[in-house]
Amino acid sequence: MRKKIVAGNWKMNLSAEEAMALANELKQKIDHQLDTGGPRQNGALPRILLFPPYVYLSGLIEVFRNYEGLSIGVQNIYQEEKGAYTGEVSPLMVRSMGGTHTLIGHSERRMHFNEDDELLAKKTALALKNGLIPVYCCGEMLPERETGKHFQVVAEQLKKGVFWMKEEEAGNIIIAYEPVWAIGTGQTASPDQAQEMHAYIRQLIADQYSNKMADRMTILYGGSCNAKNAAELFAKEDVDGGLIGGASLKADDFFRIIQSF
Ligand code: PEP
Repeated sequence: MRKKIVAGNWKMNLSAEEAMALANELKQKIDHQLDTGGPRQNGALPRILLFPPYVYLSGLIEVFRNYEGLSIGVQNIYQEEKGAYTGEVSPLMVRSMGGTHTLIGHSERRMHFNEDDELLAKKTALALKNGLIPVYCCGEMLPERETGKHFQVVAEQLKKGVFWMKEEEAGNIIIAYEPVWAIGTGQTASPDQAQEMHAYIRQLIADQYSNKMADRMTILYGGSCNAKNAAELFAKEDVDGGLIGGASLKADDFFRIIQSF
C-alpha cells in the first residue's frame, strides 16, 4: 500500500512565536484525534510532513519528538555537504538535527533562484546519500499547459532530476506534482486534471523502472489545495495526498486537509 501523506510548506512565513503557536495547535489537534479516535480511527491519520523555515527546525523537532507519524523537513538544501558556502545549509546538517525530508525543486526555487534540473538532480542525490527523503517537485507553467506541453514538461523534469537514478535510490523519493499556475493562485487543478497527470507520472515510473515501483511510489498534488477541495482531489486513485502551501499556515485548515482521506 502506498503511503498517504499531507505535507505543509510554510515557505518564508511566520515569526518564531507564530511558528511555535501553529506547531502546538496542530499537536493538540493530533493528540485529540489520537485520544478520541476523532472522526477516523487512530491508525488512519496519514503521514504528516512539515517544512518550516530552517530557523524553526529544532523547535518543531522538539514539539513533535515522539510523534512517529509526523516528520520535519526543510524547504531546500545546498548541493554540497560542507565547506566555504556562506549562508547555506547542507543535507548533512539537516539530518544531524533530526530532519528527515527535504523539498527539492519547488517552482519558487526554480523561478527565483534559477535552479535547473541538473542542479536539482545533484541535490536529490546528495539528500539521499545523507539519509534525507527528497520530495521532488515538478509541474508545468500556464503557457505550457495551454499549448498542450504539460506532459512533455513534467516528463523532462523527472527524466533529468530523478530517472537517471537506480531503482533502489529513486524508490525512496516522493514526487509532488505542482502545476505552477495553481500555486498560491487560488486556482486548483481539477481532480480530473490532477488524476490525469498523476497516472501519467506513475506510468513513466513503470516504464523507467517497474510496475512494482510505480505502485508503491507516493505522488502528491500541490497547488491551492485547501480544506474545501482536498477530499475530492485525494479521492482520485493516483493522488496520494497533498503538498500544501497557504492552507498549511492555519492549524484548523491544515488539520481538515489531514482528515480529508
Ligand atoms: C506550494 O507552495 O507548494 C503550494 C502548493 O502552495 P499553495 O498551496 O499556497 O498553492
